[in-house]
Formats: sequence, C-alpha cells, structure tokens
Amino acid sequence: MASFDIAVIGGGPGGYVAAIRAAQLGFHTVLFEAERVGGLCLNWGCIPSKALLRNADVLALVRNASVWGIHVDGVTADYGAAVDRSRKVVDQIVGGVEGLLRDNGVTVVPARARLAAPGVVEAGGERVEARWVIIATGGTPRRLPGVEIDGDVVITSREALARRTPPQRAVIIGAGPIGVEFAHLWSTYGTEVTLVELLDTVLPQEDPDVSRALRRSFEARGIRCLTSARVASVDRSAKEARVTVEQAGERVVLEADTVLVAVGFAANTTDLGLEALGVATDRGFVVIDETMATNVPGILAIGDVTGKLMLAHVAMQQGVAAVERLAGREVPVLDYVQMPRATFCQPQVGSVGYTEPGARAAGFEVRVGRFPFTALGKAIAVGETEGFVKVVADAETKQVLGIHVIGHDIVDLMGEASLAVLLEVTTEELGFAVRVHPTLPEALKEAALAVDGEAIHIARRRAQQAAAPRGGSG
Ligand code: NAD
Repeated sequence: MASFDIAVIGGGPGGYVAAIRAAQLGFHTVLFEAERVGGLCLNWGCIPSKALLRNADVLALVRNASVWGIHVDGVTADYGAAVDRSRKVVDQIVGGVEGLLRDNGVTVVPARARLAAPGVVEAGGERVEARWVIIATGGTPRRLPGVEIDGDVVITSREALARRTPPQRAVIIGAGPIGVEFAHLWSTYGTEVTLVELLDTVLPQEDPDVSRALRRSFEARGIRCLTSARVASVDRSAKEARVTVEQAGERVVLEADTVLVAVGFAANTTDLGLEALGVATDRGFVVIDETMATNVPGILAIGDVTGKLMLAHVAMQQGVAAVERLAGREVPVLDYVQMPRATFCQPQVGSVGYTEPGARAAGFEVRVGRFPFTALGKAIAVGETEGFVKVVADAETKQVLGIHVIGHDIVDLMGEASLAVLLEVTTEELGFAVRVHPTLPEALKEAALAVDGEAIHIARRRAQQAAAPRGGSG
C-alpha cells in the first residue's frame, strides 16, 4: 500500500490549495479528484460565471455606446460564443492548476475516494495510507423538496452554465449570489427574469441598505423581485413550467421556459465512509474545530463540506491554515466574520465584517458613514455612479467593524476593505490613508471620514445627517 503524509479528498479550491501548500511544506501528498481539479468553483461555478458576466459587461457597454458618442449599429449578441469562451477560460485555468500540482510533486489520483478505515483511503480499487486525511469534497446545489431538477426546464447553476442559449422567460428561485448573478446575466441578454426569494429582500445576507439598493437597481431594469415569497409548486409541461408562488396570502402563477433553483448548497458527504468512522456531522456538514480537525483523530475537513462560509477563498485559507498547523506553524485562528464576500452582478456587491444590524446584534454601539459614487470623480468620469460605500464602525473606539459596497466594478475594493477589518483599523486611519486620485478606493476614505461627518466631497448637511448616531437599522 502506498503511503503518504497527507491525503486530500477533493480537488476544488480548498483541496488543491491544501495539497500544494502541504507539498511546499515537505509533506508527501496525494490528492483524489473524481472529475477535474478545480472543483465546482473552477469548472462549474465562480470562474465560468465570471467569464459569462464579462460578456454581459461588454454587451451592456456596446449597447450604451452612444452615451459616449460612439455609434454602433446592428449589435447582435451570440450567447453560445460567450459560453464557449467561458469553457476555454475554465480549460486554461484547470490546465494551470494541474501544472502547479505536478510542479509541486503532488500525486493526483483521478478517482472518487472514500475513507476505508482511519488513515486509509480507497479509490478505484486501490488503497493508500496517510497520516492525515483532509476531506475537501465541497458542496452541491441544494434541492427544493417537491421540485424535480430535470436538467432541461428546471435546472441548477451547473446546467445553467452549460447551456448555449439564454432563456426567454426565467424564474429564479433564491436571490442569493447565484440567483442574482444569473438574473443580471440573463436579463442583459434579454431574458424576462423573475426572482423569487423566501426572505424579505434580495441578497438577504448583505447589509439592508445594500440589498435595498440592489433591488431598486434590478427593478429599474425590469427584473421582477418577489420577496417574502414561497414556492408552492413547480409544474412542468413539455417545454415550460408553471411556478406557483405564495406571497402575502396571494398566489402568483409564473410561466417560464427555465426555472433555476438556487437555494443554497448542501455538503458532499455521500459514500465517503464518514458514518462508519464516526465522523460527526451537523445538518450534513462535517463538524470541525478551529484547527479544521474533525472529532476523529487524523481526519480534517475544509471548504464547503464544513458549511462554515461557503466561499472558494475561505476554503483556500482553511486549507492553508490546516496544513500549516500540521507542519507545526503558528497560525491565527480564522475569523469568518472577517472574510470578504462579493457578488458579481452589476452593480456589484462587496462586503466584509459586520452589517449594521449584525454589529448591533453583536452588542456594539454603531456609527455609520456613507459615501455615494455620484460624488466620486473617478465614478463620474467613467460614467458609472450607481451605488455607495458604507462603513460600519464602533461608536466608541472608532474601529471599523464592517465595509459594504455596491457599485459598478467595485469587488476589487474588497481587498483593501478586508485588510482594514483584519487589521482592526479605525475610521480615522481608513480616512487618513492616501489613495490615488481619481480612483474608486477614494470612496472608502470618504465613507470612513463620513462616520464623523468629515467627508470632503459631500454636502455638509448631508454628511452630518449620514453621521448622526442611529437607533435603528437601515
Ligand atoms: P445562498 O444560500 O447564498 O442563497 C440562497 C437564497 O435562496 C437565500 O437567499 C435563501 O433565502 C433563498 N431560499 C432558500 N430556500 C428558498 C425557497 N424555498 N424559495 C425561495 N428562496 C429560497 O445560495 P446560492 O446563491 O445558491 O449559492 C450557493 C453557495 O455558493 C453559497 O454558499 C454562496 O455563497 C456561494 N456562491 C457565492 C458566490 C459569490 O460569492 N459571488 C457566487 C455563487 C455562489
């Protein structure tokens, strides 16, 4: 039986990064992957969707070219070509990850693996032993009870990313990141989109001011948003479906050629052998401690399968933290509140740290500062003034507790924003640091200054109103 220090099951962002880092640290490492390395994110999630969303950006820009005095006649959009491009992007990056694994000397076994015994992994009829096993099997779209995914009319994001024509009429169930990203993409390509969300707002995990602004923006462009709405049934006929939704005691019937079910992810734990080994799970997710260890010695878990915060960059960081600890390094405990989040519709949404109501619920006395992109030189110059930055701060210490941004192409601001939250900077420090003029990060500076009514590029009265301590949320 081949013997390794570390066996990683699952080659998504968590698993492949853990394997590479383990190999860098000198561990003899094997990685098992049943499909292609890169996992759901690279093959059927983050990456192909971002490639498609880029097409939506280009299309929107070309369609509006006359605003810039550029006249383009007869614009046609080939959605199939966009999908082809997205698959090429995926292939290129998968190839890159395969190269990195090879380069680092990680043994990659292209097979579905399971734990046969503590420290023994079985795949394709072979067994290997490993001192530590890291479960990184990821997640899969959650099903809605009573709603059959047929892969044609009623689909998940996976089929949505593969199909080469946009729907004409789509109902999207769930207004989380997947739901709103497809709403934006398809609506840009001319689809009539209705979002159906169980909670009372779109992107309900975001700060309420941001969720409200996104909803306004979506509705202004014709995306229908049904919130506090429950799907009672989905009835499929030959090429269509009727979705019956209950909202405020009323029944709304929606007809669509495509129903996208985007109601969250469940953990991939089927046939992994976890039950037989007594690995504890909670609602299907593998339970881990702050070192990524499960209750069974030698078995760790990272990424979506742990259900901690189901984001690729979080999985990567869990993977690095896990193997660095195994190598005896001192690693700070991951604080999931400090993890940045981003949704890539337009306007984009980015956030890190506490929302305003979240900070209050955690016991902070809160002050907020806001700065709108309508007041920012760079945003005006590029003609994209929608949205704002909102800084949530501790009223007493001025520590920045959360940063929330909605606007055109703003997700890259989350780099600086997450550093600010990680380093526990104050609004004074965030407001003092000099940014290049004219750039979007100036809005972070101004929003930080706005917490004390000291933003420069905002009318005095408005700044004072924005800075007033508030009792409620939103
Ligand atoms: P999600 O859990 O983030 O959002 C699902 C939404 O569906 C929630 O708003 C929920 O209230 C709603 N919902 C649940 N049951 C419902 C029902 N019966 N009817 C109507 N609405 C219902 O999940 P997602 O958007 O499917 O994404 C899956 C995972 O992938 C998430 O963990 C997400 O964070 C991650 N993801 C992240 C990004 C990103 O960061 N840009 C993009 C895509 C996916």
